[in-house]
Formats: sequence, C-alpha cells, structure tokens
Amino acid sequence: MLQEITIWHILIGIVIIVFLFLIEFNFPLRTRKYSFTLRLITNGFLSLLVLITVYFLVQPVQQSTLNFIEGNNFGLLYLIDLPPLAEGIIGFLLMDLAFYYWHLLNHKIPFLWRFHNVHHLDPDMDMTTAFRFHFGEIGFSSIFRIVQISFIGISPFVFIIYEFFFTANTVFHHSNIKLPIKFERILNRIIVTPRMHGIHHSQYKNETDSNYSTVFSWWDVVHRTIRLNVPQNKIVIGVPAYSNKEDNKLLKLITHPFKKQKDYWSKNNISFRNRENEQPKNKLHLIE
Ligand SMILES: [Zn+2]
Repeated sequence: MLQEITIWHILIGIVIIVFLFLIEFNFPLRTRKYSFTLRLITNGFLSLLVLITVYFLVQPVQQSTLNFIEGNNFGLLYLIDLPPLAEGIIGFLLMDLAFYYWHLLNHKIPFLWRFHNVHHLDPDMDMTTAFRFHFGEIGFSSIFRIVQISFIGISPFVFIIYEFFFTANTVFHHSNIKLPIKFERILNRIIVTPRMHGIHHSQYKNETDSNYSTVFSWWDVVHRTIRLNVPQNKIVIGVPAYSNKEDNKLLKLITHPFKKQKDYWSKNNISFRNRENEQPKNKLHLIE
C-alpha cells in the first residue's frame, strides 16, 4: 500500500517539476550568475547521492518507525482520541512544525551547519537546489525522523499526504519563478513562496537566519523569524566565503563538511553579517 502510493506521488511530482521547469525558464525571478549546465551536473550528482541515502536509509527507518508506532499505539496522536479529520489536520501541522525546528537546528548547531551549508553554497537557486543536499545531512535526518514520527504518532496515511506536500512545496519555494507580486503576497500568508525562501538563501547572515519554514509560512511568524522586506534584486544567493566559481565543484562540495571551515559571512574583509532593513515598516510584506 505504502509503496504503491509512493510511486504514484513521485510520478505526480515529476509532472509538477516539468511544468515548473518550463515556467521557471520563461518567467525567471532572479538573474542567474552561474552556468546552468554546470549547476545541473553538480546538483544532479548531489541529488543522486541524496536519493540513494533516502532509499537505503531514510525510507527503511521511516517505515519501521511508522510500523512500530502503529503496532504499539505510540505517540501523541495515538494517545488522544480525536475524530479522523482533526487527527489528520493536527498531524499535518505538527509534522511541518517539526521540520521548522529541524531546519533551525541545521543552522544553529555548527556540526549540522557544516553539512546543511552545502545546500546554501549553491550560487543560484532554482528547482534543482531543492534536491541538492549533502548526503550526510539526509543521513542525519533519519535520526530526526525517528523522533518526529514517534513523538507525533503520525498515521502512515497522513504521513504520505504530508510527504507529498512537503516535497511539492520544497520544489516550489526553491524555484526561480516570478509570480505576480500581489498573488505571491496572498499565497505567502499561507505557504512558503519563492521570494520568501530566496531571502533565506541570501548572502547576508541576518537574512539567512530567517524564513526556516517548509510548507506553512506561519511557523516563522509564530517564532518571529520571518523576514519579507528584502527587495529581490538586492539578494545575492549563496554564502560569501564560498562564492567563487571553484567552490561549487562536486568533489569540493562532497568533502566540504570534513574540511576546516572559513568564516562563512565575510569575503575580502567585507562583513556580510548584517544588512540593515531598508523598509523596516514592511517586515511582513514581500517586496517586488
Ligand atoms: Zn537553510
């Protein structure tokens, strides 16, 4: 059952990706500064390692955790007797909230950041960035998955629904699609959108330290980590200390977490720690 639906949702995912890919090229949000072909090769290889890690480690861990909690009525939602719809909605929200914390930890714990910053070292951001992670980060996420699934007590069905929306919105908010600003502002009241996540990939530390949410944008509002008042044409994607062309080579990226780390937020003695808000009044308002 789980396997059939997984293949089905992967197929839908591919259709969405191809569709978004066409829009991305015809209506780009940010100008690319790096060769797309080179990035495609690099991101493709890193994504392949991610897929292998997911298939051989994350999926089996998830599946056994789901089986265990279902068999033993383990976790919050198994303890409380709720109508199925309420259980589904709460489960979905808690899964998304848990990912907010996991993403935050990946930025705040220096050891995890060594791996997660391989994702942020991408010199441009588009849909290929959505799958470009260091396989180590994906491996560690299987430990997080055990905690997340067993604490929440999520049912296998809600789990699959959430995974679908998680993947679809991860692709969407990494995409380089220029949506009409008015439409994106409305959409952003509910979900994470490309302009919002673009700010998270900015070379300025205070902007990267914001917008951690994955599906619903509310978690950043609740935790006061939301930052929307950055004009998109002021955003340079990447991490300053690793923004030379050779920093994005495949082998360098794979070995990156194991090497001595540079001061990420400075380049040529220029600090990228803090960029003053240019339009502080509109902190909760996306800018063109
Ligand atoms: Zn991040």
